[in-house]
Amino acid sequence: MSEKTTARGALVTGGAQGIGRAIAERFLQDGMAVLIADADPEACEEAISTLSRIGHAAAAVCDVSKEEDVTQAVSSAVDAFGRLDVLVCNAGIGFSGVPVTELTLDEWQRVINVNLTGCFLCAKHGAPHLHNTRGCIITIASTRAMQSEPHTESYSASKGGITALTHALAVSLGPEIRVNCISPGWIETRAWQKRKKQTEPELTAADHAQHPAGRVGDPRDVAALAAFLASGEAEFITGQNFIVDGGMTRKMIYVE
Ligand code: NAD
Repeated sequence: MSEKTTARGALVTGGAQGIGRAIAERFLQDGMAVLIADADPEACEEAISTLSRIGHAAAAVCDVSKEEDVTQAVSSAVDAFGRLDVLVCNAGIGFSGVPVTELTLDEWQRVINVNLTGCFLCAKHGAPHLHNTRGCIITIASTRAMQSEPHTESYSASKGGITALTHALAVSLGPEIRVNCISPGWIETRAWQKRKKQTEPELTAADHAQHPAGRVGDPRDVAALAAFLASGEAEFITGQNFIVDGGMTRKMIYVE
């Protein structure tokens, strides 16, 4: 029999590592109960041993591109906490960087399925529970939804899709459920990986200096905004996309 809680319950996809893990930590520090839903069982195990020391944490191994995994993860959160108040659709994968003329349909579909369809599936199955608690959804896109390097078509398209999905959901699911998006820029996550994947960040002075804010981002920068958007302070904010990039997308760049 699982322990029920009166604390607000959150589900964070991709919560075992990187930005998702920082969001899970922050939510626990703020007194929420948190279930991390992540495709990597080893990372889940490591994360849960740390997160459980902060508060009421649970984990579900889940591939967000699979509908049965998502329904299972949502049920696990509701079973564990008795309620779902906040859903963070953070799980995402990157791009291989091959030119579009060589990009296979399989790779294109894999990126869209995890990054974009995963958000749809989580929203679809989380919404009935969030409706009951007047909860909220936070999606995680990227500044790559707005600007590109060459050979990033699948990733950029998936992230642009997330920003559009966000306002569509906000209009469909309001007023009971608020839906907002965070678009991070360069966030250094190497210290937030499972032990096997952890490496020392090798950031140069130039990496930091090129940001108008003077440094590369930290997963806790994204978590701080997620905490605000999940709070009652944000109850008049929905359908929006918030950029957390140290000002990089506001900087004009000309080759000298
Ligand atoms: P990360 O690789 O550090 O962590 C991602 C987590 O998602 C991992 O634990 C991984 O196991 C999990 N995951 C991957 N595929 C999954 C799936 N199918 N189902 C469930 N879990 C899955 O990544 P990150 O850098 O923390 O990125 C988190 C989100 O932020 C992603 O959506 C990413 O696109 C976005 N983002 C990151 C940055 C950045 O600079 N780090 C910038 C912009 C946007």
